[in-house]
Amino acid sequence: MDKPEAVKKSLFGKTLTELKSVAGNLEMPGYSALQIAEWIYGKRAASVGEMTNLSKAFREKLSQQYETGVTPFSKFVCSADGTKKYLFPTKSGKYIEAVFIPEKNRYTLCLSTQVGCKMGCLFCATGRQGFQGNLTAGEILNQLRMIEESSNITNIVYMGMGEPFDNTPEVMKSLEILTSPWGFGFGARRITVSTIGITSGIQTFLDQSNCHLAVSLHSPVEEERRELMPVTKAYPLGTMIEMLKSFETGRQRRISFEYIMFGGLNDTPFHARELARLLNGLRCRINLIRFHPVPGVELLPADERTMVNFRDRLSRKGITTTIRQSRGEDILAACGMLSTKELPGKG
Ligand code: SF4
Repeated sequence: MDKPEAVKKSLFGKTLTELKSVAGNLEMPGYSALQIAEWIYGKRAASVGEMTNLSKAFREKLSQQYETGVTPFSKFVCSADGTKKYLFPTKSGKYIEAVFIPEKNRYTLCLSTQVGCKMGCLFCATGRQGFQGNLTAGEILNQLRMIEESSNITNIVYMGMGEPFDNTPEVMKSLEILTSPWGFGFGARRITVSTIGITSGIQTFLDQSNCHLAVSLHSPVEEERRELMPVTKAYPLGTMIEMLKSFETGRQRRISFEYIMFGGLNDTPFHARELARLLNGLRCRINLIRFHPVPGVELLPADERTMVNFRDRLSRKGITTTIRQSRGEDILAACGMLSTKELPGKG
């Protein structure tokens, strides 16, 4: 009987330091790590065979144990507004979704960081499906590498499935690869990571990256926030805001707060006043988001007029506040609608 072929390890998703140790273990020269990085990230090589500035002997040595390790998407669906939702298979037989959002001069990609999510936010379809595992840095970046619009992406948001700071090591690794000159060379100011407010992850992120931060707030009242996002019980609102206020984020770095507006729940003048009081002294902006109803969830969206009034109240208090345009609702690609299940569409 033939000996089964050994499973090859992935190069894609490794940092330069990790590639140096791959090169060292294979007795390749140190500089070859940089060459491999440039091939897999900059030149987007699909195979080791394409790495023609490595000698033939080194290519053979490398390909005996390693492959580039990128995974094609299995399907995509398109929204009437041009938003495109890609489905990628995971090793566990589930799916993750990445969303491409074209606007005038801006092409945003929304990345997932976990398969499902364990945070259990009341209003979120992903949270209702539970948690099935963390993505590796390679699996996070594979979403960027493999979509059809890969080379045109201008902005990246970590706002897909999962809580990024429940998977901090792999998220930080993916940011290092995204922003390094030897990696994708993507500007840190064009990347935003969104969290429900896990303070330890925020600290690491602010210390180790220059990317923008978005925090899901959804209510300035602690008890209401806990009802909506039970996990925030462990991360008191006051402590988090104080931590952000004490952190020198630099002029270029942006802190924004995401605020989904639920009719009759968090959309009153009282909430606007409390929000302005809570954020007083913090240089930040607020994005008001329409709630997209999720089956089995009794929450209602706030109406348009109420959202506009809410925005104007906050603006008058000196806080830059915008109402985010909903995108891809018809293909369940809008905020809080992503799923680990397969979807119908183009394969
Ligand atoms: S909103 Fe984000 S953190 Fe909350 S359950 Fe959904 S994916 Fe997880």
